[in-house]
Amino acid sequence: MSDAWEPRPVPDVTPETAEYWAAAADGDLLVGTCEACEAVFHYPRAHCPDCFSEAVSTTTAAGTARLYTFASPERIEGWPDEHRPLIVAQVELDEGPRLITNVVDADPSALSIGDRVAVRFVPTDRDDVAIPVFEPVD
Ligand SMILES: [Zn+2]
Repeated sequence: MSDAWEPRPVPDVTPETAEYWAAAADGDLLVGTCEACEAVFHYPRAHCPDCFSEAVSTTTAAGTARLYTFASPERIEGWPDEHRPLIVAQVELDEGPRLITNVVDADPSALSIGDRVAVRFVPTDRDDVAIPVFEPVD
């Protein structure tokens, strides 16, 4: 079964986000790390969101996380009916940051807060852009 809606629409790719999307297309989930305060953040950006230092770098996350919260709305504008169930989730990466994403190939009634999930990447119509989503793991 796959409810992942592939290929996904291509997001807005800017010079600032191109590295992130390209890494996703290569199977890597990038996070930012701050050399000044050691914060880890998602999405990577040019300044630390905690201390505003520009001494930041980009690293690859393990791709494992826990389900922080989720919802499975009956309808959401623009989401194709054939790609149900839609599970909108916030996951907390093992490195710390949380991100809004989808959980795919899961029964929403079987999910619980705290469940382990792992990233996978859904293609788009661009070879250099993929979308990170998460799936349950044991
Ligand atoms: Zn910082």
